Amino acid sequence: MNIRDIQARTLEIPFRLNFKHHSADRSRTQTILVRTRTLNEHVGFGEGCPREYVTSETLSGCLAFLEQHTTDLTDNIHSVSDLATWIDQHEHQIDTNPAAWCAIELSLLDAMSKDLGQSIEATLGTRPLSGTFQYTAVLGDNSQTAFAELVTRYVALGFDDFKVKITGEEKNDSEKLSLVLNAAPEARIRLDANNIWETAGEVLAYLSELSCTPYALEEPLQPRAFGELNRLLAKTPVPIILDESFLNKGHFEPIDTTNDNVFVNVRVSKMGGLIRSRAIARLLSDAHIPIIIGAQVGETSLLTRAALCLANEFDDGVIAQEGAFGTLLLETDITDESLMFGSNGRLVCPGAAIDVAANGFEIRYKSDLFGTNV
Ligand SMILES: [Mg+2]
Repeated sequence: MNIRDIQARTLEIPFRLNFKHHSADRSRTQTILVRTRTLNEHVGFGEGCPREYVTSETLSGCLAFLEQHTTDLTDNIHSVSDLATWIDQHEHQIDTNPAAWCAIELSLLDAMSKDLGQSIEATLGTRPLSGTFQYTAVLGDNSQTAFAELVTRYVALGFDDFKVKITGEEKNDSEKLSLVLNAAPEARIRLDANNIWETAGEVLAYLSELSCTPYALEEPLQPRAFGELNRLLAKTPVPIILDESFLNKGHFEPIDTTNDNVFVNVRVSKMGGLIRSRAIARLLSDAHIPIIIGAQVGETSLLTRAALCLANEFDDGVIAQEGAFGTLLLETDITDESLMFGSNGRLVCPGAAIDVAANGFEIRYKSDLFGTNV
Protein backbone atom coordinates (compact mmCIF):
# COMPACT_ATOMS: atom_id res chain seq x y z
CA MET A 1 0.00 0.00 0.00
CA ASN A 2 1.11 3.52 -0.75
CA ILE A 3 -0.76 6.15 1.22
CA ARG A 4 -2.08 9.25 -0.53
CA ASP A 5 -3.34 10.98 2.61
CA ILE A 6 -4.67 10.47 6.12
CA GLN A 7 -7.31 12.81 7.49
CA ALA A 8 -9.43 13.00 10.60
CA ARG A 9 -12.65 14.56 11.76
CA THR A 10 -14.79 14.36 14.85
CA LEU A 11 -18.14 12.67 14.71
CA GLU A 12 -21.10 13.91 16.73
CA ILE A 13 -24.11 11.72 16.19
CA PRO A 14 -27.05 12.31 18.56
CA PHE A 15 -28.41 9.38 20.56
CA ARG A 16 -32.04 8.37 20.54
CA LEU A 17 -31.87 8.27 24.37
CA ASN A 18 -29.38 9.40 27.00
CA PHE A 19 -26.98 6.86 28.44
CA LYS A 20 -25.81 7.48 31.99
CA HIS A 21 -23.45 5.71 34.36
CA HIS A 22 -21.36 6.64 37.41
CA SER A 23 -18.65 8.43 35.36
CA ALA A 24 -20.59 9.98 32.46
CA ASP A 25 -23.94 11.07 31.06
CA ARG A 26 -23.92 10.94 27.29
CA SER A 27 -26.42 12.09 24.64
CA ARG A 28 -24.21 12.01 21.53
CA THR A 29 -21.10 10.31 20.21
CA GLN A 30 -17.65 11.54 21.19
CA THR A 31 -15.72 10.01 18.37
CA ILE A 32 -12.80 10.55 16.05
CA LEU A 33 -13.11 9.22 12.52
CA VAL A 34 -9.96 8.77 10.42
CA ARG A 35 -9.84 8.28 6.66
CA THR A 36 -6.85 6.81 4.84
CA ARG A 37 -6.74 7.05 1.03
CA THR A 38 -4.26 5.03 -1.00
CA LEU A 39 -2.61 5.86 -4.31
CA ASN A 40 -4.69 2.98 -5.75
CA GLU A 41 -7.79 5.05 -4.88
CA HIS A 42 -8.92 2.79 -2.07
CA VAL A 43 -10.37 4.33 1.07
CA GLY A 44 -10.26 2.97 4.60
CA PHE A 45 -11.88 4.27 7.77
CA GLY A 46 -11.07 3.98 11.45
CA GLU A 47 -12.90 4.99 14.62
CA GLY A 48 -11.73 5.79 18.14
CA CYS A 49 -13.68 6.93 21.20
CA PRO A 50 -11.56 9.05 23.57
CA ARG A 51 -12.88 9.05 27.15
CA GLU A 52 -11.28 11.33 29.75
CA TYR A 53 -12.26 9.00 32.63
CA VAL A 54 -10.84 5.89 30.92
CA THR A 55 -7.69 6.91 29.04
CA SER A 56 -7.44 10.67 29.81
CA GLU A 57 -7.89 11.43 26.11
CA THR A 58 -9.83 14.24 24.44
CA LEU A 59 -10.99 14.77 20.87
CA SER A 60 -8.53 17.64 20.37
CA GLY A 61 -5.71 15.51 21.78
CA CYS A 62 -6.57 12.77 19.28
CA LEU A 63 -6.46 15.22 16.37
CA ALA A 64 -3.10 16.55 17.60
CA PHE A 65 -1.71 13.00 17.85
CA LEU A 66 -2.66 12.33 14.24
CA GLU A 67 -1.21 15.64 13.09
CA GLN A 68 2.06 14.76 14.82
CA HIS A 69 2.42 11.37 13.11
CA THR A 70 0.76 11.78 9.70
CA THR A 71 3.91 12.33 7.65
CA ASP A 72 5.78 9.47 9.32
CA LEU A 73 2.86 7.08 8.78
CA THR A 74 2.26 8.17 5.19
CA ASP A 75 5.92 7.63 4.32
CA ASN A 76 6.53 4.41 6.22
CA ILE A 77 3.43 2.22 6.45
CA HIS A 78 3.07 -0.05 3.42
CA SER A 79 2.24 -3.44 4.97
CA VAL A 80 0.88 -5.05 8.12
CA SER A 81 4.44 -5.81 9.24
CA ASP A 82 5.32 -2.10 8.90
CA LEU A 83 2.32 -1.41 11.09
CA ALA A 84 3.38 -3.97 13.73
CA THR A 85 6.89 -2.46 13.79
CA TRP A 86 5.52 1.07 14.18
CA ILE A 87 3.31 -0.08 17.06
CA ASP A 88 6.29 -1.68 18.83
CA GLN A 89 8.42 1.42 18.35
CA HIS A 90 5.71 3.76 19.65
CA GLU A 91 4.39 1.68 22.55
CA HIS A 92 4.49 4.46 25.13
CA GLN A 93 2.96 7.09 22.84
CA ILE A 94 0.10 4.66 22.06
CA ASP A 95 -0.30 3.82 25.78
CA THR A 96 -1.22 7.47 26.35
CA ASN A 97 -3.22 7.91 23.10
CA PRO A 98 -4.96 4.54 22.60
CA ALA A 99 -8.24 5.78 21.11
CA ALA A 100 -6.41 8.12 18.71
CA TRP A 101 -4.14 5.30 17.59
CA CYS A 102 -7.10 2.92 17.30
CA ALA A 103 -8.80 5.23 14.80
CA ILE A 104 -5.60 5.57 12.78
CA GLU A 105 -4.71 1.89 12.85
CA LEU A 106 -8.18 0.71 11.84
CA SER A 107 -8.20 3.12 8.88
CA LEU A 108 -4.77 1.86 7.78
CA LEU A 109 -5.84 -1.79 8.10
CA ASP A 110 -9.07 -1.10 6.22
CA ALA A 111 -7.31 0.74 3.38
CA MET A 112 -4.50 -1.83 3.21
CA SER A 113 -6.95 -4.73 3.02
CA LYS A 114 -8.83 -3.02 0.20
CA ASP A 115 -5.59 -2.48 -1.71
CA LEU A 116 -4.90 -6.20 -1.24
CA GLY A 117 -8.48 -7.11 -2.24
CA GLN A 118 -9.18 -9.01 0.99
CA SER A 119 -10.88 -8.87 4.38
CA ILE A 120 -9.37 -7.55 7.61
CA GLU A 121 -9.23 -11.14 8.83
CA ALA A 122 -7.11 -12.16 5.82
CA THR A 123 -4.78 -9.20 6.40
CA LEU A 124 -4.39 -10.14 10.08
CA GLY A 125 -3.99 -13.83 9.25
CA THR A 126 -7.05 -15.03 11.16
CA ARG A 127 -9.99 -17.12 10.00
CA PRO A 128 -12.82 -15.52 8.02
CA LEU A 129 -15.62 -13.89 9.98
CA SER A 130 -18.53 -16.26 10.40
CA GLY A 131 -21.00 -17.54 12.96
CA THR A 132 -23.47 -16.18 15.48
CA PHE A 133 -22.41 -13.61 18.06
CA GLN A 134 -24.38 -13.23 21.28
CA TYR A 135 -24.65 -9.76 22.82
CA THR A 136 -25.51 -8.56 26.32
CA ALA A 137 -28.37 -6.17 27.08
CA VAL A 138 -26.73 -3.17 28.74
CA LEU A 139 -28.85 -1.02 31.06
CA GLY A 140 -27.67 2.47 32.01
CA ASP A 141 -28.43 4.36 35.19
CA ASN A 142 -31.92 5.48 34.14
CA SER A 143 -34.91 6.42 36.26
CA GLN A 144 -36.89 3.43 37.55
CA THR A 145 -39.60 4.02 34.93
CA ALA A 146 -37.20 4.29 31.98
CA PHE A 147 -35.22 1.34 33.33
CA ALA A 148 -38.36 -0.81 33.57
CA GLU A 149 -39.35 0.10 30.01
CA LEU A 150 -35.91 -0.88 28.71
CA VAL A 151 -36.00 -4.18 30.59
CA THR A 152 -39.37 -4.96 29.03
CA ARG A 153 -38.00 -4.19 25.57
CA TYR A 154 -34.88 -6.32 26.07
CA VAL A 155 -36.88 -9.26 27.44
CA ALA A 156 -39.32 -8.98 24.51
CA LEU A 157 -36.33 -9.13 22.17
CA GLY A 158 -35.30 -12.39 23.88
CA PHE A 159 -32.21 -11.27 25.83
CA ASP A 160 -31.20 -13.34 28.85
CA ASP A 161 -27.77 -11.80 29.51
CA PHE A 162 -27.75 -8.38 31.21
CA LYS A 163 -25.29 -5.81 32.42
CA VAL A 164 -26.60 -3.18 34.80
CA LYS A 165 -24.83 0.11 35.51
CA ILE A 166 -25.16 0.57 39.26
CA THR A 167 -25.23 3.66 41.47
CA GLY A 168 -23.71 2.10 44.60
CA GLU A 169 -26.93 2.81 46.55
CA GLU A 170 -27.87 -0.71 47.55
CA LYS A 171 -31.65 -0.15 47.79
CA ASN A 172 -31.89 1.57 44.42
CA ASP A 173 -29.72 -1.05 42.72
CA SER A 174 -31.52 -3.99 44.36
CA GLU A 175 -34.84 -2.68 43.04
CA LYS A 176 -33.45 -2.55 39.53
CA LEU A 177 -32.06 -6.07 39.81
CA SER A 178 -35.45 -7.29 41.00
CA LEU A 179 -37.05 -5.66 37.96
CA VAL A 180 -34.73 -7.64 35.68
CA LEU A 181 -35.18 -10.93 37.54
CA ASN A 182 -38.98 -10.56 37.69
CA ALA A 183 -39.07 -10.08 33.92
CA ALA A 184 -36.40 -12.69 33.15
CA PRO A 185 -35.98 -15.16 36.07
CA GLU A 186 -33.14 -17.00 34.31
CA ALA A 187 -31.21 -13.83 33.51
CA ARG A 188 -27.45 -13.78 34.00
CA ILE A 189 -26.67 -10.34 35.43
CA ARG A 190 -23.35 -8.62 35.80
CA LEU A 191 -22.95 -5.19 37.33
CA ASP A 192 -20.76 -2.29 36.24
CA ALA A 193 -19.81 0.21 38.96
CA ASN A 194 -17.57 2.45 36.83
CA ASN A 195 -15.22 3.05 39.79
CA ILE A 196 -17.60 3.94 42.63
CA TRP A 197 -15.66 2.79 45.70
CA GLU A 198 -12.29 3.44 47.32
CA THR A 199 -11.79 0.31 49.42
CA ALA A 200 -12.36 -3.45 49.22
CA GLY A 201 -14.33 -3.24 52.48
CA GLU A 202 -16.88 -0.86 50.93
CA VAL A 203 -17.38 -3.21 47.98
CA LEU A 204 -17.81 -6.26 50.22
CA ALA A 205 -20.36 -4.40 52.36
CA TYR A 206 -22.33 -3.43 49.24
CA LEU A 207 -22.31 -6.99 47.88
CA SER A 208 -23.46 -8.45 51.19
CA GLU A 209 -26.50 -6.13 51.26
CA LEU A 210 -27.53 -6.55 47.63
CA SER A 211 -30.71 -8.55 46.94
CA CYS A 212 -28.93 -11.06 44.68
CA THR A 213 -25.42 -12.22 43.94
CA PRO A 214 -24.33 -10.97 40.53
CA TYR A 215 -22.60 -13.17 37.98
CA ALA A 216 -19.72 -10.67 38.08
CA LEU A 217 -18.94 -7.09 39.16
CA GLU A 218 -17.10 -4.68 36.86
CA GLU A 219 -14.73 -1.96 38.07
CA PRO A 220 -15.89 -1.50 41.67
CA LEU A 221 -12.70 0.32 42.76
CA GLN A 222 -10.71 3.29 41.50
CA PRO A 223 -8.99 2.71 38.14
CA ARG A 224 -5.75 0.75 38.50
CA ALA A 225 -5.82 0.72 42.33
CA PHE A 226 -4.16 -2.68 42.13
CA GLY A 227 -3.35 -3.07 45.84
CA GLU A 228 -6.97 -2.60 46.86
CA LEU A 229 -8.11 -4.75 43.92
CA ASN A 230 -5.94 -7.66 45.05
CA ARG A 231 -7.35 -7.33 48.60
CA LEU A 232 -10.86 -7.55 47.15
CA LEU A 233 -10.02 -10.52 44.88
CA ALA A 234 -8.75 -12.44 47.91
CA LYS A 235 -11.98 -11.89 49.82
CA THR A 236 -14.85 -12.31 47.36
CA PRO A 237 -15.97 -15.25 45.25
CA VAL A 238 -17.75 -12.82 42.87
CA PRO A 239 -15.65 -12.45 39.71
CA ILE A 240 -14.31 -8.93 39.23
CA ILE A 241 -14.25 -7.59 35.68
CA LEU A 242 -11.45 -5.17 34.87
CA ASP A 243 -12.20 -2.43 32.36
CA GLU A 244 -10.81 1.03 33.25
CA SER A 245 -8.09 -0.87 35.19
CA PHE A 246 -6.89 -2.84 32.18
CA LEU A 247 -5.79 -0.70 29.25
CA ASN A 248 -2.60 -2.36 28.07
CA LYS A 249 -0.45 -5.40 28.67
CA GLY A 250 1.50 -3.56 31.39
CA HIS A 251 -1.63 -3.86 33.57
CA PHE A 252 -1.49 -7.65 33.54
CA GLU A 253 1.46 -8.02 35.87
CA PRO A 254 0.23 -6.27 39.09
CA ILE A 255 -3.04 -8.25 39.20
CA ASP A 256 -3.30 -11.35 41.38
CA THR A 257 -4.95 -13.97 39.17
CA THR A 258 -4.44 -16.93 41.52
CA ASN A 259 -8.05 -16.91 42.74
CA ASP A 260 -9.54 -17.46 39.27
CA ASN A 261 -12.03 -14.62 39.75
CA VAL A 262 -10.63 -12.04 37.32
CA PHE A 263 -12.31 -11.30 34.00
CA VAL A 264 -11.12 -8.61 31.56
CA ASN A 265 -13.21 -6.35 29.36
CA VAL A 266 -11.28 -5.94 26.10
CA ARG A 267 -12.40 -2.89 24.15
CA VAL A 268 -10.58 -2.16 20.90
CA SER A 269 -10.60 1.62 21.31
CA LYS A 270 -9.26 1.79 24.89
CA MET A 271 -6.56 -0.79 24.14
CA GLY A 272 -5.14 1.05 21.16
CA GLY A 273 -6.44 -0.80 18.13
CA LEU A 274 -6.85 -4.31 16.85
CA ILE A 275 -3.24 -5.47 16.78
CA ARG A 276 -2.69 -4.59 20.46
CA SER A 277 -6.13 -5.95 21.42
CA ARG A 278 -5.30 -9.27 19.75
CA ALA A 279 -2.00 -9.47 21.62
CA ILE A 280 -3.76 -8.80 24.94
CA ALA A 281 -6.55 -11.29 24.18
CA ARG A 282 -3.87 -13.88 23.38
CA LEU A 283 -2.15 -13.19 26.71
CA LEU A 284 -5.46 -13.51 28.59
CA SER A 285 -6.48 -16.59 26.67
CA ASP A 286 -3.16 -18.33 27.42
CA ALA A 287 -3.64 -17.48 31.11
CA HIS A 288 -7.24 -18.88 30.98
CA ILE A 289 -8.67 -15.51 32.00
CA PRO A 290 -12.22 -15.07 30.66
CA ILE A 291 -12.69 -12.20 28.19
CA ILE A 292 -15.60 -9.87 27.59
CA ILE A 293 -15.46 -8.14 24.23
CA GLY A 294 -16.73 -4.73 25.19
CA ALA A 295 -17.79 -1.60 23.36
CA GLN A 296 -17.87 2.16 23.65
CA VAL A 297 -21.29 3.69 24.24
CA GLY A 298 -22.24 5.23 20.91
CA GLU A 299 -19.75 3.41 18.75
CA THR A 300 -20.71 3.07 15.10
CA SER A 301 -20.78 -0.06 12.97
CA LEU A 302 -17.06 0.38 12.37
CA LEU A 303 -15.94 -0.36 15.95
CA THR A 304 -18.61 -3.04 16.19
CA ARG A 305 -17.08 -4.70 13.14
CA ALA A 306 -13.53 -4.36 14.52
CA ALA A 307 -14.61 -6.04 17.78
CA LEU A 308 -16.07 -8.92 15.78
CA CYS A 309 -12.51 -9.73 14.61
CA LEU A 310 -11.63 -10.48 18.25
CA ALA A 311 -14.83 -12.34 19.07
CA ASN A 312 -14.33 -14.46 15.96
CA GLU A 313 -10.73 -15.31 16.81
CA PHE A 314 -11.01 -15.85 20.59
CA ASP A 315 -14.46 -17.44 20.75
CA ASP A 316 -13.39 -20.09 23.31
CA GLY A 317 -12.39 -17.52 25.93
CA VAL A 318 -15.15 -14.96 25.29
CA ILE A 319 -17.90 -15.15 27.92
CA ALA A 320 -19.87 -12.11 26.73
CA GLN A 321 -20.03 -9.42 24.08
CA GLU A 322 -21.29 -5.87 24.41
CA GLY A 323 -22.26 -3.25 21.87
CA ALA A 324 -23.81 -3.65 18.41
CA PHE A 325 -26.59 -1.21 19.30
CA GLY A 326 -26.27 0.52 15.92
CA THR A 327 -29.26 2.70 15.15
CA LEU A 328 -31.14 1.45 18.21
CA LEU A 329 -29.02 4.04 20.03
CA LEU A 330 -27.59 6.26 17.26
CA GLU A 331 -29.84 8.48 15.20
CA THR A 332 -27.75 7.55 12.19
CA ASP A 333 -24.78 5.32 11.42
CA ILE A 334 -21.77 5.87 9.13
CA THR A 335 -22.66 2.83 7.06
CA ASP A 336 -25.57 2.27 4.69
CA GLU A 337 -26.65 -0.69 6.78
CA SER A 338 -26.08 -0.64 10.55
CA LEU A 339 -24.24 -3.65 11.99
CA MET A 340 -26.38 -4.53 15.00
CA PHE A 341 -27.86 -7.38 16.96
CA GLY A 342 -31.26 -8.81 16.11
CA SER A 343 -33.63 -11.09 17.95
CA ASN A 344 -32.30 -12.75 21.13
CA GLY A 345 -29.40 -10.28 21.00
CA ARG A 346 -27.71 -12.22 18.22
CA LEU A 347 -25.76 -11.00 15.23
CA VAL A 348 -25.32 -13.56 12.46
CA CYS A 349 -22.33 -13.13 10.15
CA PRO A 350 -22.19 -12.59 7.33
CA GLY A 351 -25.55 -10.81 7.39
CA ALA A 352 -27.16 -7.86 5.66
CA ALA A 353 -24.61 -5.32 6.91
CA ILE A 354 -21.56 -7.36 5.88
CA ASP A 355 -20.67 -7.18 2.21
CA VAL A 356 -17.65 -9.40 1.56
CA ALA A 357 -17.15 -7.73 -1.83
CA ALA A 358 -16.36 -4.47 0.00
CA ASN A 359 -13.13 -6.02 1.44
CA GLY A 360 -11.47 -4.50 4.51
CA PHE A 361 -14.09 -4.32 7.24
CA GLU A 362 -16.64 -5.43 4.63
CA ILE A 363 -19.09 -2.67 5.51
CA ARG A 364 -20.46 -0.06 3.07
CA TYR A 365 -19.74 3.45 4.30
CA LYS A 366 -21.96 6.39 3.46
CA SER A 367 -20.39 8.36 0.65
CA ASP A 368 -20.15 11.83 2.20
CA LEU A 369 -18.42 11.20 5.54
CA PHE A 370 -15.74 13.79 4.80
CA GLY A 371 -17.96 16.20 2.89
CA THR A 372 -16.89 14.82 -0.48
CA ASN A 373 -17.51 11.55 -2.24
CA VAL A 374 -15.05 8.87 -1.24
MG1 LIG B 1 -17.17 -0.84 31.89
